[in-house]
Amino acid sequence: MNQCEIPLVRTGDMDADVLVVGAGGAGYPAAFRLAESGRRVVMADPKGELGGNCLYSGCIPSKTLRELCQISIRARRLLSWPGPVDFADLQRQRDAVQQIRFGQHQEELREHPGVTFLKGSVELLGKGRARIQGPEGITEVSAPGMILGTGTRVRRPDFPGAELCLTSDDLFSFGAPRIELPSELAVVGGGYIALEVASLFSALGSKVRVLVRSDTLLRNVDPELVSLLHGALHDFSIEFQAPVERVESAGGRRRVVYHSRGQERTVEADAVVIAAGREPVLPQGWKRTGIALDPRGFVVTDEGLMTSVSGIYAVGDVNGRAPYFHAAVRESLVAAHNLMAGNRRIDVMDYGSVPVTIFTFPSLAYVGITASVARRQGIPTVVARAALSEDSRAQMVQEREGEVRLFFQPGSLRLLGGWVIGISASELINEIGLAVSSGLTARDLAEFADQHPTTNEAISKTARTLL
Ligand code: ADP
Repeated sequence: MNQCEIPLVRTGDMDADVLVVGAGGAGYPAAFRLAESGRRVVMADPKGELGGNCLYSGCIPSKTLRELCQISIRARRLLSWPGPVDFADLQRQRDAVQQIRFGQHQEELREHPGVTFLKGSVELLGKGRARIQGPEGITEVSAPGMILGTGTRVRRPDFPGAELCLTSDDLFSFGAPRIELPSELAVVGGGYIALEVASLFSALGSKVRVLVRSDTLLRNVDPELVSLLHGALHDFSIEFQAPVERVESAGGRRRVVYHSRGQERTVEADAVVIAAGREPVLPQGWKRTGIALDPRGFVVTDEGLMTSVSGIYAVGDVNGRAPYFHAAVRESLVAAHNLMAGNRRIDVMDYGSVPVTIFTFPSLAYVGITASVARRQGIPTVVARAALSEDSRAQMVQEREGEVRLFFQPGSLRLLGGWVIGISASELINEIGLAVSSGLTARDLAEFADQHPTTNEAISKTARTLL
């Protein structure tokens, strides 16, 4: 009997104040917040777990592998620790970390009895009504408030042989079949997932070649920062203007056929990873609600995260504004607050201070207004920088490449933005982001005693160059 033929039991109807569709970073913070304020919440997700794709197949598993890889790189370089890393072991540890977090979320659910969590997929029947279909049967829910947090999925390009390639889902999904560490890996794409995968596997010992369709990496990132990163990525080769035509099987290996300078070329590898972006996931029946989409298919929202339909909010990756888990969490709370206020906009999302990190080796992080953005928008800036070669922690682990660069408003010296490339970028950018969102100045940063010996010292040191 296939799935469609399973007789579905109507398990009943539920009335709630808010239906939360999807239990990722966009969903569960709002669900908990609303339940804490006495609202009756129904939340559903076909995974039957909280955490969304970030935990299931994204940030958590990929950064677990990166952390472990970082340990092995340092151990080898600094302690002459021999031995290759056992990739099967890394994959086991990846699943174990995911398991810990699933358990933690279950505990949080138990602490919020006002949230009814159903394993199932939501179909929208109209404004305020939905049907949830899961292994237990069908439940119909009436709820005047709705939060859509259905995220995105991997986009597979349509060239022949795309199905022979791996995607980030194959590399990172919970319980995904173990894969062998490829001796040679081809990566198709020039976005952050492509570069992170390339960096990770070359650090693990694979010979990696990246094929980029256009002549730019990281299209949405400040080009000046991208060129700094490009200069620092020593471990794998990148070929630009190399659109892939097809991928073929070649005696247990893969052959990628692509174009370069008017000629057909090929590269062979043990595996090919395609990272061609992600596309929005909308619940079935979304059209019945009347919500508007933008030309790329993401849900249109205002600064309070409400869609074009009052009472329906779209939060996280599905609105295409800032596709990062931490942004989704904050957006989720903004939506919850506005729902609690009877759909009045009492809270708004500040997109100007969401930090972003690209977890390559070395990593890169940025927030707010940076060099090229300022130039493009005609915003004058005063620039300060400090090289990480002089940072004590960078010296301890001998990762001295990179810099902190901060951009201030002339006169007031208010911090507008900044970037970090190199050690601890993902940590430093939080302090810089908080300073941007709080309107701090170079003097505020300069007078703060960043703790020694941490790389954060580079932030106050950078600010002090202006005073
Ligand atoms: P975000 O970071 O925006 O929360 P994620 O992609 O991490 O995005 O999470 C989105 C979640 O939404 C996923 O766990 C996915 O299973 C869930 N989802 C997608 N479509 C539906 C649907 N129709 N009904 C319920 N949940 C859904």
